Amino acid sequence: MPADEALSAFREFARATLLGHDAEFDSGAEPPLALYRPLHEQGLLNWWLPAEYGGAGLSLADSVDIVSELAYADAGSAFTLLISILGSSMVSLYGSPELKKEFLTAMTRDGGYAAALGSERDAGSELINLTTKLTRRGDDVVLTGEKMFSTNSGFADYLVVFAKSEGEGERAAGYHAVLVPRDTPGARVVKRWDMIGLRSAGTYQVSFTDCVVPAGNVLNGPGLKIIEVGLNSSRILIGAIALGVSRRIRDVCLDYAIRKPLAGHKLVENAVFASKLGQMEMQIEVMRNQCLAAARDYDDVMATPDPPAEFLRRGALRSSLTTKMFCGQTGWQIATVGSEMFGGLGYTTELPIAKYLRDIRAVTIVEAGDDVLRELVFRRFVLPPNRRI
Ligand SMILES: Cc1cc2nc3c(=O)[nH]c(=O)nc-3n(C[C@H](O)[C@H](O)[C@H](O)COP(=O)(O)OP(=O)(O)OC[C@H]3O[C@@H](n4cnc5c(N)ncnc54)[C@H](O)[C@@H]3O)c2cc1C
Repeated sequence: MPADEALSAFREFARATLLGHDAEFDSGAEPPLALYRPLHEQGLLNWWLPAEYGGAGLSLADSVDIVSELAYADAGSAFTLLISILGSSMVSLYGSPELKKEFLTAMTRDGGYAAALGSERDAGSELINLTTKLTRRGDDVVLTGEKMFSTNSGFADYLVVFAKSEGEGERAAGYHAVLVPRDTPGARVVKRWDMIGLRSAGTYQVSFTDCVVPAGNVLNGPGLKIIEVGLNSSRILIGAIALGVSRRIRDVCLDYAIRKPLAGHKLVENAVFASKLGQMEMQIEVMRNQCLAAARDYDDVMATPDPPAEFLRRGALRSSLTTKMFCGQTGWQIATVGSEMFGGLGYTTELPIAKYLRDIRAVTIVEAGDDVLRELVFRRFVLPPNRRI
């Protein structure tokens, strides 16, 4: 399907199926996977998967407006639907041909999901501290450990788990990314977290006890670099969640101001209101342009002769890091202005603005907080090249 038709289909889906159900999505009920089934029927679930595995093969630049449309209607649904790109892109770039054929084809055929499991209690932003152990046993590897947060793990078909091989210390070669089918004995969901936002998504704590998978399920390459590469695409699309939620906030503010009486007029006629919405529009425009610029950087790497090697050489893309930071911070400013707009009602659960505020809060936290990203940007892109780490 051409990209513009796909975007129209997503817009239609988001408006017809998701929009207007804020309270249900915010209830904390189980992720509403059945609602997303029509996307699979149109060949659009996991829309980025390459055509050779039966996917729609849409680019990351195409994905920005898709995610923005989904998040406009429900940020938690957008998060559920986009986050499989993290696990599946790592498999697509660094999995063996057999692994890709089996698991990526199954995703497009059956409409499945993927999850990535890096964070642990003492290793979220700093994965070098992870303690999940990988041990080799004949032609297999065995995983033991506990992962603190991982979105989609409760229903994903496969999990991409980060682990350290015993005895290899902190050397980069000691870290591995391993594909674990979710129903593998020893892989167990401990609980689903009760998050304050993105409540239609599911983020889980998962444990691994003597969990055995074939050694061929280990992705090819250093695990810490593979996760850095994988995060390039998901960080950009998480930025696009802030974009979609910000567009929604702008629109609900406008609807409210048209109705709200103020000193014999309506709020919409007030110059201070106009200035606030003009500011929001500027911020939304720049967020979108930044998401698109970063997505094009990513697509440019994908168009090189050897994307896995080029990504390993470059690691985290500067534009991907700055997109998540910029969109998270800017979205939060918009949400703050938006929540004030409704006066006291904006601080109640009566209006959906409270949901948007909580949803957008996640953008600067997930996939490394801003303190960590600021330092990374400094070390990788600000220091003179001979001092970079
Ligand atoms: C909704 C949601 C979904 C998630 N989904 C997933 C998932 O699918 N897979 C997954 O692996 N993880 C997932 N996570 C985990 C998430 O990526 C981590 O929580 C995030 O990276 C932050 O890591 P942390 O929790 O260890 O906190 P930390 O990074 O340890 O932060 C705690 C505090 O320490 C400060 N800090 C940390 N490092 C530095 C530094 N270098 N300099 C200064 N201050 C610092 C931070 O600013 C903060 O104040 C999810 C989290 C949420 C909330």
